Amino acid sequence: MQAKIIDGKAVAEKLRVQLKLKAEEFEKKNGRKSGLAVVLVGADPASQVYVKNKIAGCEQLGMNSFAHFLDADTKQEALDELIDTLNADKNVDGILVQLPLPKQLDERRSLSRVLTCKDVDGFHAENAGSLMLGEDCLAACTPSGCIELIKSTGIDMTGKHAVVLGRSNIVGKPVALLLLQQNCTVTICHSKTHDLAQIAKTADILVAAIGKKEFVTGDMVKPGVIVIDVGINRHEGKLYGDVNFDEVSKVAGHITPVPGGVGPMTIVMLLSNTLKAAELNAKNK
Ligand code: NDP
Repeated sequence: MQAKIIDGKAVAEKLRVQLKLKAEEFEKKNGRKSGLAVVLVGADPASQVYVKNKIAGCEQLGMNSFAHFLDADTKQEALDELIDTLNADKNVDGILVQLPLPKQLDERRSLSRVLTCKDVDGFHAENAGSLMLGEDCLAACTPSGCIELIKSTGIDMTGKHAVVLGRSNIVGKPVALLLLQQNCTVTICHSKTHDLAQIAKTADILVAAIGKKEFVTGDMVKPGVIVIDVGINRHEGKLYGDVNFDEVSKVAGHITPVPGGVGPMTIVMLLSNTLKAAELNAKNK
């Protein structure tokens, strides 16, 4: 069996076309563009690329972007002040504080400072809590992208056994909650899980988000499984996922490549959240 490739770039492009229309409608209706503010503290090269791509993503859709670059030694009070200003700015619908933050800054405090209704990363405790309660909310972008990729296969998720490898607050836990919302039966595995390979092999849907190069091998998956590889592992200048693509693609029914799978979805889901926030903010004005 040779797995069908889930083409993240193509799925993202399709969504982008829909979002562009939505962004135009929003502008017509409200007399202003929707807008995303991105805050980068310091000059981490990977973060700089992510921020650049997010700004370019806004431009492509005809949305406003407001980039704020702060020095690496910025104090917490200065970051708090900027977040407060962006919270109060009517032209800013979404605020994204690029992680990781330099050591002197408190990540949780900074994320919680962003108004819930502008928290387009979905990392605020209130949005994370709403996701847990199954309420409509701004859900984390990479996990939402994983769900869109699974939907793109056309396979109904209801009743399927979904196994999530990883339990981080930004990927593992939220993706597990979103799979539960799709009526999957969900198992979460982590570094202390016994018999992980055996559990993985029972999955109809396998989401790998552990950050270990090619961890999932061909003998760990069931024939026909949908495999979503979230991992990004850099090794000798090349990108690798958490899944051994060559082996697993011979057994799985559907699989995302790395790069070109989950990666392109994250920005699109961020833009989708920004438009959702803009519509909510316009309604509550
Ligand atoms: P974290 O390091 O925060 O979490 C890793 C999780 O994997 C933890 O829950 C950890 O378990 C678990 N884990 C680690 N090693 C093992 C192991 N040997 N067996 C079982 N479980 C293990 O990572 P993130 O969730 O932030 O990211 C995961 C991957 O996804 C990374 O490669 C990251 O680069 C990528 N990523 C990709 C994105 C994209 O847009 N494509 C966006 C975000 C992340 P424990 O809790 O017990 O320590």
